[in-house]
Amino acid sequence: MIDLEDKKIRFKNMTYTELCDFFVQMGEKKFRAAQVFKNMYRGVYDFGDMTELSRDLRMKLEESAELASVKLLRRQESAVDGTKKYLFEVAGGSAVESVFMKYKYGNTACISSQAGCRMGCAFCASTVNGLERNLNAGEIVDQVIAMQADSGRIGHIVVMGTGEPFDNYDELVRSINILHDEKGFNIGLRNITVSTCGILEKIYRFARDLPQVNLAVSLHAPSDEIRRRIMPIADSYTISELMSVCREYTEATHRRITFEYALIKNINDSLENAGELAGVVKGMLCHINLIPLNTVDEKDYRGSARKHAAQFAKVLSDTGIEVTIRRELGSDISAACGQLRLSESKK
Ligand code: SAH
Repeated sequence: MIDLEDKKIRFKNMTYTELCDFFVQMGEKKFRAAQVFKNMYRGVYDFGDMTELSRDLRMKLEESAELASVKLLRRQESAVDGTKKYLFEVAGGSAVESVFMKYKYGNTACISSQAGCRMGCAFCASTVNGLERNLNAGEIVDQVIAMQADSGRIGHIVVMGTGEPFDNYDELVRSINILHDEKGFNIGLRNITVSTCGILEKIYRFARDLPQVNLAVSLHAPSDEIRRRIMPIADSYTISELMSVCREYTEATHRRITFEYALIKNINDSLENAGELAGVVKGMLCHINLIPLNTVDEKDYRGSARKHAAQFAKVLSDTGIEVTIRRELGSDISAACGQLRLSESKK
């Protein structure tokens, strides 16, 4: 059982170069760092299982270092679609949820970037108790590795769990670089998607730092008036400012942006709203992903019916906009979008 409060150095928090430096300082050869890094990202959690290392080195590492950055508290599996929701503890006693999903194209990990969230979106469970703290890179990385060790190879990662990734920008970028490292987990940048509620300065930085990673933007409204009712971030930036930054993003990266739009009954889901939305994204290199809102206990908002969502989608596709309706996974275990929360949920 790992102790998250001990003073051991957390290896998942380190880049490959940093791990090499650590080994050299210990008087070890660099290739030892390469062996450990490779093992870690194959899901080995015990130095004792790294049999290519000498007994002496394994013992030294056991005393000073820890391979885990998160600790599994609970796992639930959906009876409907096999989706699994994990509750992980991080140092300090906070907990975060992560989700393992099976798609035709492979397994996908949905991971959290913060314990809690301070963005305050009116329809989302993750923000109900505010922000507890940012996760460090190792805690972001280890959600993926722990789920893979338990459930099988993960080929895609979406940073769409609890938290606003761009509110924890540096650790987010660091975690992606660690997961991408070919000496370790080696995931392609194009297999990673980061979702933001739209913090404009960070969209610029992201285009420079990680242009190959997919960007999703939570839009959720066709007008500032509606967006301000449901997303406090809309008080900081108008939709027109957001769209102009998104246009610059697509021009700089040549990457298509996904706009997420949760369909909330009687708030943003009229067919007139669909027409307005078409106007907002007109001519952009983008895709709209409609998500009929998932219910959250503390909130009064309701999702649009599937049939209505299809009509909303048709208005968009008739104007030539690429649109999909998200298939909901894991809603019987509250693992669907916007249902992840800080601590143990009832279901
Ligand atoms: N903070 C980031 C990452 C969260 S990703 C962001 O805002 O993009 C989770 C996605 O699910 C976001 O698009 C979020 O707005 C959406 N969401 C939140 N609550 C939801 C709910 N109850 N039903 C459906 N989608 C929801």
